[in-house]
Amino acid sequence: MSDYRGSLEEAARFMRKHDRFLIISHVNPDGDTTSSALATALMLEELGKTYVIVNEGETPAKFGFLPRFEHIRNLSTDVVDETFSAVIAVDAADSRRMGDVRHLFSSDAVLLNIDHHPTNDRFGHTNVIRTDAAATAEIMFELMEAGGFTCTNELAVCVYTGLLTDTGGFRYSNTSPNVMEIAAKLLRYGVKPGEIAERCLEEITLEHVQILRRSLQSLRLTHNKLVASLRVTHQDLVETGASSEDASGLVNYGRNIEGVEVGLSFVETEPGVVKVSFRARNQVDVSRIAKSLGGGGHAKAAGCTMKGSIDEIEQQVHTKLSEDLGVAADE
Ligand code: AMP
Ligand code: MN
Ligand code: MN
Repeated sequence: MSDYRGSLEEAARFMRKHDRFLIISHVNPDGDTTSSALATALMLEELGKTYVIVNEGETPAKFGFLPRFEHIRNLSTDVVDETFSAVIAVDAADSRRMGDVRHLFSSDAVLLNIDHHPTNDRFGHTNVIRTDAAATAEIMFELMEAGGFTCTNELAVCVYTGLLTDTGGFRYSNTSPNVMEIAAKLLRYGVKPGEIAERCLEEITLEHVQILRRSLQSLRLTHNKLVASLRVTHQDLVETGASSEDASGLVNYGRNIEGVEVGLSFVETEPGVVKVSFRARNQVDVSRIAKSLGGGGHAKAAGCTMKGSIDEIEQQVHTKLSEDLGVAADE
């Protein structure tokens, strides 16, 4: 813990020492990485520093209420014609999760890695890692306190959103006393919990419902009904007009079925590229399986992206699960 405290202070010194920063949120950005990137931006603003925030792709429009959201550059459409010597990555478990950003690093670039994934491989020059934090946003709050930053309403909105989304609305087992205490403090800064929950958790797109309807037809129970798998082919996405973001959350329908230990979703985001999501109850640490397949995450929520046909990938994942569950897929 004292190492962690020391790393928070080192991070604050890093923010004071440099003038211009590159802030990176992870690929397929979620509420935690987006909020943590924007919280970083707000703290840098307080120091009078300048920054560019990037994501390899598009950040979901539902996070548009977050302060400075409009500053996030999408590297698949926007050209960033500059290199940076001070880089901050948030909520990225390994360097590949930053996406294709190397061209933005100067040769002397120093990297601050702020994250909470147990699979984090400490890829930064400075690493602020607390694997029992529910969200990177929880670490951002602690950085705010350790660095003497001001808790404004805007900063509170960012931190609260990261906590809310990574705890599934304060429901998952990572919802600790510390999370609830921080959330309570943030409400005193004028955060509107109902409005943020509506935007982040309740509101869904019509395309999400259309892709849900299709994917439920693909539901398959294997491993003596301990594993529930759903799939979305690229053709499903094209025919419903859904984006891969519209397909997020499907994995929970399988996992939530009574008696199921592991929920899986296989989403073919591009022809031959499949994003696999894992959600576990108690028996299996899915971060280990995801990591062995080139991804990572947490014990109960993990993911990886694989190349090949959905059939082959599903079979490969099922075989890995058979080892952990001690049950063959076809039982
Ligand atoms: P998802 O299924 O995309 O919601 O991801 C669940 C968890 O696994 C999140 O904590 C992600 O950060 C993590 N995760 C997903 N995909 C990857 C990946 N390719 N590499 C490392 N971590 C991942
Ligand atoms: Mn994340
Ligand atoms: Mn996170």
